[in-house]
Amino acid sequence: MAHKARKRFGQNFLHDKMVIQRIVNSINPRQGDHIVEIGPGEGALTERVLDKIGAMDVVELDRDLIPLLKIRFVIQDGLTIHQADALKFDFCSLQQDEKKIRIIGNLPYNISTPLLFHLFEHNHCIEDMHFMLQKEVVERIVAKPGDSAYGRLSIMLQYFCHAEYVFTVKPGAFRPAPKVDSAIVHLVPHKKPPVEINNFDAFSKLVNHSFTMRRKTLRNILKGQLDIEQIEALGIEPTIRPERLSLEDFTRIANAISN
Ligand code: SAH
Repeated sequence: MAHKARKRFGQNFLHDKMVIQRIVNSINPRQGDHIVEIGPGEGALTERVLDKIGAMDVVELDRDLIPLLKIRFVIQDGLTIHQADALKFDFCSLQQDEKKIRIIGNLPYNISTPLLFHLFEHNHCIEDMHFMLQKEVVERIVAKPGDSAYGRLSIMLQYFCHAEYVFTVKPGAFRPAPKVDSAIVHLVPHKKPPVEINNFDAFSKLVNHSFTMRRKTLRNILKGQLDIEQIEALGIEPTIRPERLSLEDFTRIANAISN
């Protein structure tokens, strides 16, 4: 029963067995782990993980894939299939005891950023996450101040998680092959936020605003909000550009603005 990959659902199915094995090795599923896969597709990753731990949940949006998954995994009764949109899915509702869930997925690239932000709302019930994303997005996630890929995504993400670039995956590992390189990222939610943000909305607005003007100096960006003396009082150089400011710097500025 062949399934025709749908562009609309961001379907690029993994078929390179070496790559699949490498991903599963980095996930390192252990007996007793509660693993939830987003977008199992035809089950390339699902199969290997299920072999190791015997039970897991999957969240798949495409209705046509559900019967395929049911047939493929009919003998493994540990697979629980949720036909749902991961963007709206309540991941914490799957938690059965104090054991946190581990989330994995070769994600549909068109929804990867909103999906990450949706998942951060469930941070408290998540142990870790392994995702396949567009390589460029992973580079943005792990970028440090001063790196060319550094921006809004780097800062917001580092507030919620510790992030690590695991490895690059070439287009040939998928069917159909995407146009861009992909990469695996490992995210571990912080138990306690690394900084204390007084008003998250104000912080988020500041970061957005700063990176729409990334070539401007901080003094210009903050015009009407903080003057030069106030910026200097935070121990920050007013002529610096936002691409050099750390999460701590943005927090200090946002807290000063919202005070
Ligand atoms: N894990 C599979 C498939 C990856 S393709 C593999 O590696 O081969 C991305 C998968 O995400 C597809 O199965 C697609 O149908 C599914 N998907 C797309 N949007 C989704 C959404 N909003 N919620 C859940 N699954 C989604």
